[in-house]
Amino acid sequence: MSKEFLPFTRPSIDEQTIAGVAEVLRSGWITSGPQVREFEAQLSAYFGGRPVRALSSATGALEIGLALAQVGAGDEVVTTPLSWVATANVIVRAGARPVFVDVDPQTRNIDLSLLEAAITPATRMLLPVDLAGLPVDRTRLYAIARRHGLRVLEDAAQSMGASWQGERIGAGGDLVSVSFHANKNLTTGEGGCLVLNDEQEARRCELWRLQGVERFADGSLDATLPGGKHNLTDIAARIGLGQLAHLEEFTARRRALARRYFERFDRTLGCELPVADFVNSNWHMFQIVLPERVERGAFIRAMHDGGVGVGVHYPAIHLLTLYRQLGFKPGEFPVAERIGDGIATLPLFPAMRDEDVDRVCELAARCVRSLPAREPAAPAGSASAGRGRRA
Ligand SMILES: *Cc1c(COP(=O)(O)O)cnc(C)c1O
Repeated sequence: MSKEFLPFTRPSIDEQTIAGVAEVLRSGWITSGPQVREFEAQLSAYFGGRPVRALSSATGALEIGLALAQVGAGDEVVTTPLSWVATANVIVRAGARPVFVDVDPQTRNIDLSLLEAAITPATRMLLPVDLAGLPVDRTRLYAIARRHGLRVLEDAAQSMGASWQGERIGAGGDLVSVSFHANKNLTTGEGGCLVLNDEQEARRCELWRLQGVERFADGSLDATLPGGKHNLTDIAARIGLGQLAHLEEFTARRRALARRYFERFDRTLGCELPVADFVNSNWHMFQIVLPERVERGAFIRAMHDGGVGVGVHYPAIHLLTLYRQLGFKPGEFPVAERIGDGIATLPLFPAMRDEDVDRVCELAARCVRSLPAREPAAPAGSASAGRGRRA
């Protein structure tokens, strides 16, 4: 190919940030220290003054969020089957049971009209996900939580820069977990944070973050709970500070590119486009759902051969082996299964040019039109049912 390969995402790290990281490396203090404290202070300001603790991953943030709400054996946590598997794994690791609710076919997020029917006396918490950075309706979500006396742990891993009715995601609500993984809208390489309700909860978060250890003025220490190892390094925090300065600009650029996708994408191909929300969504991803007849693996290969990267985010969680072993079956969440089989993430990142969108749209149209119709699906229940699940 004459053109450079276009990945589906790529972080934008400026030279100032790179120089800043070099300074941290030379400073003699590279683990959690002044950069982490500054990053937390700036994140707290960003989230409307709420307490924030930086962590080494959002998976860790979710685990701590469940621990803070004392979710454990015998408890149920209601969540979506269409997410990164971390969302459900943390519930299983806590000893609780994930209760999936199918997704809305338009938003691809947990269907709030089905949510209340999934609540039982064992339900302890709601764990919604904003897929691709399109926020779950917070007004309806919290009305349900209040009605049933439930805590909420927002898996806002993909939501940095998104908002709900003029309020930033993270500035309101109960516990909010955000990811700074390399592919997310704001990155620290690996990292995350948890937004908390008050200083007392933030103190407990610190204990869960680092071995449950408290240090005293006389140099002694004590451990009061079995905390993990979830602290962020100063190296990573310095990257985050450099990213935070560009967040508004990143989000604006992503929205502009998403708009261009809507202008240029051929609507006659039979692909489902995302909800055209240019107010709340941070456009973490631009995802299409391929028409039934197109085999996703073949589409991805054809796009790759044409110089364009395509991602899969995500196959339905309940069909993964671990969850089948826990008793979940094909057919239980048909909308998530259908979307999970056909969803494809097209390139979208701040450094992309407008012409890149045009190129993706032209190539996608050629690929969708020229690919042969796929073989009929394997019978439901067979291990290989679904499109390209093992691709
Ligand atoms: C990325 C992601 C996570 C996990 O974040 P890490 O920082 O990689 O641990 C959890 N949930 C969702 C929806 C994600 O996209």
